Amino acid sequence: MATKDRLILVCNDDGIFAKGIQALIEVASDFGKVEVIAPDRQQSAVGHSITIMDPLRATRFELKNGMVGTAVNGTPADCVKLAHDQLLDRKPDLVLSGINHGSNAGINLIYSGTVSAATEGTILGYPSVAVSCTDFDENADMSGCQEAAAKAIQFIFNNGLPKGITLNINAPSGPLKGLKWTRQGDSKYVDEYEPRVDPHSRPYYWMTGRFQVLDHGEELDINVLKEGYGSITPIQYDLTAHKVFGEMSKMEL
Ligand code: MN
Repeated sequence: MATKDRLILVCNDDGIFAKGIQALIEVASDFGKVEVIAPDRQQSAVGHSITIMDPLRATRFELKNGMVGTAVNGTPADCVKLAHDQLLDRKPDLVLSGINHGSNAGINLIYSGTVSAATEGTILGYPSVAVSCTDFDENADMSGCQEAAAKAIQFIFNNGLPKGITLNINAPSGPLKGLKWTRQGDSKYVDEYEPRVDPHSRPYYWMTGRFQVLDHGEELDINVLKEGYGSITPIQYDLTAHKVFGEMSKMEL
């Protein structure tokens, strides 16, 4: 398909005015016509949450570089669902989410709104990619993440993606040292909350938390990133534990 005929939907979870989404729009523009439909505010760590009890509203906004985008008062997954069902004139050829400000490797994946926007794209039948920069700094150099995203997009247009599979990319800030296929590394957060006391002597809790790596094998997203490479992981929304299903399903209940 010619570049001018492709439609690419770009979403994120940091909100439509985040710097990271601009970086992804730049990459997407090299591959097709871009439609930006993203949350109207910060929606990090909302996971695959969707809005059921409240109405969704979509507002057109002028973005940088003459682009027009649609801000939705919902979650990243809401944005992709609404784009698919109502807002886009036709089905997109690709769904991109990011570039997130912060890592979505290891256990972060399960909390990530960025990844969930891409996963929603996969559920709806579109090839989808999530892209995250491990550097939280708003002004981080995302050129390496952009290069990794471009490689993944080209990969998809050359090879397609197996049904039900989403690509999850993470890369450090700065130039790309290389992009490696990885598995999601086991990890968790420890010492998660800091207890404090408010002016009325009532306790409250503020999430902090240290990221703890529990998995030390090779080919893991968290380790490849530590070595300074970009990481690309094929992920799936089918949460069945296929590794144990065969054995467990033969056991008496
Ligand atoms: Mn985010």
